[in-house]
Parts: sequence; structure tokens; C-alpha cells
Amino acid sequence: MVNQFQSQFDKQKSKSLELRTESIDVRRSRLKSLKNWILKNKDKIRSALHADLRKSATDTDISEIFTVTTEINDALNHLHQWARPQRVSPGMTYLGTSAKVQPEPKGVCLIIAPWNFPFNLIGSPLVSCLAAGNTAILKPSEHTPATSKMIKEMVEDIFEPEVVTVAEGAVPETTALLELPFDHIFFTGSTNVGKIVMAAAAKNLSSVTLELGGKSPVIIDETANADDAARKIVWGRFTNNGQTCIAPDYIFINEKVKNKFIASAKKYVSQLFDSKGQGMANADDYSRLVHSNHARRLVDILEEATNFGAKIEFGGEYQVDNKFIEPTLLSNIDESNRIWQEEIFGPIMPLKVYDNIDQVIDHINQNEKPLSLYLFSTSRKMKKKITKATSAGSMAINDVVVQYAHPNLPFGGVNHSGIGKSHGRYGFLEFSNQKSVLSQRIGLTNALLFYPPFNGFKKWVVSFLIKWF
Ligand code: NAD
Repeated sequence: MVNQFQSQFDKQKSKSLELRTESIDVRRSRLKSLKNWILKNKDKIRSALHADLRKSATDTDISEIFTVTTEINDALNHLHQWARPQRVSPGMTYLGTSAKVQPEPKGVCLIIAPWNFPFNLIGSPLVSCLAAGNTAILKPSEHTPATSKMIKEMVEDIFEPEVVTVAEGAVPETTALLELPFDHIFFTGSTNVGKIVMAAAAKNLSSVTLELGGKSPVIIDETANADDAARKIVWGRFTNNGQTCIAPDYIFINEKVKNKFIASAKKYVSQLFDSKGQGMANADDYSRLVHSNHARRLVDILEEATNFGAKIEFGGEYQVDNKFIEPTLLSNIDESNRIWQEEIFGPIMPLKVYDNIDQVIDHINQNEKPLSLYLFSTSRKMKKKITKATSAGSMAINDVVVQYAHPNLPFGGVNHSGIGKSHGRYGFLEFSNQKSVLSQRIGLTNALLFYPPFNGFKKWVVSFLIKWF
């Protein structure tokens, strides 16, 4: 059976060969068109995000629009520098040659996005993909249909289909796309689907970037400023209704700061998300879960935890059909519960008191490496200890989530939380092949020393090289 996306793919394949030789300014002009469309159509983007996730306009400006425009501005400012071949030294053994690392476009790329930041997570990788000189087929999430439709309209307004096109659909369509021999696949989504994507990519030996999920721990030690930690964690956990891949997922806290943290967290939930006192179910600044199945799953997790004796410190109200769960903090957790085992991805946060920091480190190291790890502490010794003894895709000390948008930091996970890095220059490199180009002189070269026949002098040279080079 012919793949439904074959002709789309074939057109991009032949176009991608043309793109190899075009100038950097053509790539920049594509990025400028993307930026202009976004700036002119902010209202369209805001309406789509409100329809899909009941996101407020300002929240959309910050977490969906700014995150993409900042990537575009960074690429526009630095693309000439990123794309420039890097000369490398020949060392003693390659004297007489010249060599460079030449970034080249990979070719035809597939970008698959999840629903939680549905515009940002298509837009940001698209910027890196175009900056690196590739073509792209975009697959937005089927769970955010208004945003998917808006992205399709945007792409049709700006790009020729040979350069960028949108393939809408769910699992069957994504499965069909994954059969094609893409030069690179950039997937953002769950760890389980990440494994499916990697297995499919292996059949064509397509390279992959996997931006996955998991449980991102928070440690709050006895030296932390509990009020400051509470404000930051409440924002990071409950923004986008907890549906953020790098949201703090669970907390280990020292007994000495626990009560202060809980009292402050309760205060900040109202201050940040219900400042007009409308009640959380009506608050303008509190968004919604993506669909009622997701709300049902979260309520089941919450009920399992309370049935096992978890204490609701605040929150706990829900309306499944309305895709609403109140910001909820739980203590006294049983470690066997799903809330302690699975990525939560919603507005519920479990907290556990720890006695010994080494047990916390052991817990983190015995589980899959997290996408992000957060530490609240003023102790230099503790910062050093946690940074060195644990592994994570990214780490923030005395803050959460903000490391995502740092202009000069790579973003990504490790193993189960992801493979490869994105953002800025790291995103550009991910969509480029680092081609080595060596240029040799004519006639006598050092390499002749390694051609047979191997006389005594050549043997001496080889022994010398083995010992000293
Ligand atoms: P998901 O893995 O269910 O879906 C992601 C994409 O894969 C969608 O476009 C979907 O259509 C497609 N898909 C789903 N099942 C598939 C299958 N069986 N075969 C082929 N394609 C399939 O993820 P989601 O529920 O949309 O998003 C939530 C997850 O994404 C969370 O785990 C979260 O942590 C993660 N996430 C990670 C990042 C990051 O940057 N690391 C960012 C956002 C979300």
C-alpha cells in the first residue's frame, strides 16, 4: 500500500537537495516570514490556545509566542556564525593538510509535537530546522485541534509545501509518517511513545532528537528560604495546569521548613492564580486540563493516594467533565502509589519529609534520570553535592522551569527523559550534520609513511607515534 505521505515526502526530498546550496540569507528570510506571521496573528494564536487549553492571552504570549520569537531572534542574530565552517588545527601528524568542520543540513525532517505547549513545541524546533537549512513535515497533536488548524494555516500562508508542510492526524497518521526515511526526526512527547519513535527511526537509521518526560524532583533543604521556594514552585507546578514537562513533579522537604512551605504555598496559589477571588474554578489565570480522560486519570491517582492515607494540605476539589482540578498539595505519601511512581502531569503535587539527604540522592539515582532537577538551598556544600551526585537533563538551583528559556543553555533530557538537545545553537547543531572536510596537498604527504612496504624506518615512526601522539 502506498504511504499517504509519500508524495509530500518525495517533493521535500528533491527540494532538500536544492536547499543544500542556498545562501544563509535565504534561510534567514524564511525565519523573518515566520516571525512576521506570528507578530501579525497573535490574536489568532491566543484564540486557538484558549479554545484548546483555556490559556489566558498573557500566558500564551509568554509560554507559546515569546518562546518561539526568542528562538527566531537568536537564530537571526547568530546564524551566520553558527553555519560558518570551523577550521581545526592539523596537529603534528596532519601537517600539510587543512581541515574544517562544515555544518550541513540533514535534509527532510519530521517534527512531532505533544499537546501541552502545542504552538511552542512545533514552532521552536521548526526554527532550528529551518535555520539549519532543512525541509520539514510538522505533525501537531490531535488533542489540540484549534492549534493544529491554526499551525496548518500559518504554514500554508508562509511556506511552499516543498519546504514546510503540516500532516494532521493521530496515531495511524504518525505511524505512517514514521515509516518514511526521514533524515532526522524531532519528537516531543511521552517516554513510551518516544520508544516507538526510536524503534521506527531505527528501520531507516534516521537520527532522532527525543524530548521526553518523567518525574522532575525538587529538594528543599533546611537552609532554604521556604517562602521564596513556595512562590516559585507554586508557579512552576500549577501554570498550564501542571501540564509542563519540566514542572516540579514531587518534593522532598526537610522537616524544619515544611510548615512554613505549606502555609506559603497555600497563600501563593490564591495570589497567583485567583487574584480576583473568583474561585479557582472560574479564575481567568488558571488554565484547564486538555481533556476529561486526563482529568479522570488524575482524579484516580489522587483518590488512590488519599485511600492510602495521603493528607490533602490544600485543594482536592475537582470537576472531571469541566476538565478542572484545584491546585492540590499532598503529604504523607505511600511510595507504592501511582502518584509517587508515574509522571503526574497535572495540578497535584506530592510532598515527602526526608531525614537524610543521602537517601534522597539514592531515590533519585535509583529511578530514571529526570528531565529536570530542582534544589532549594543556600548551602554551597549542598549545591555542590546534589549537582555532582545526581544526573538530570537540566538543573535549577533556587528556581524552577526558568532554565528552559535561557538563551545559551541546551535543553533536553538524559536516557528515559530524552536524547539530544535543543534551543539556540544546540538546536541548530541537532538539525545539522557536522561534516569533516580534510584537504590534502598533492604529492608528498605524511600519510605515505603508513603505506606499505613497512621498512625499519616506518616501523620506528609508528612506534614513536604510538608512544608520543
Ligand atoms: P504523546 O507521547 O502521547 O504524544 C506526542 C505525539 O506523538 C502526538 O503528536 C501524538 O499524535 C503522537 N503519538 C501518540 N501515540 C503515538 C503512537 N503510538 N505512535 C506514534 N505516534 C504517537 O505525548 P502527549 O500526551 O501529547 O504529551 C505529554 C508528554 O510529553 C509528557 O510525558 C511530557 O512530559 C512530554 N513532554 C516533553 C517535553 C520536553 O521538552 N521534554 C515537552 C512537552 C511534553
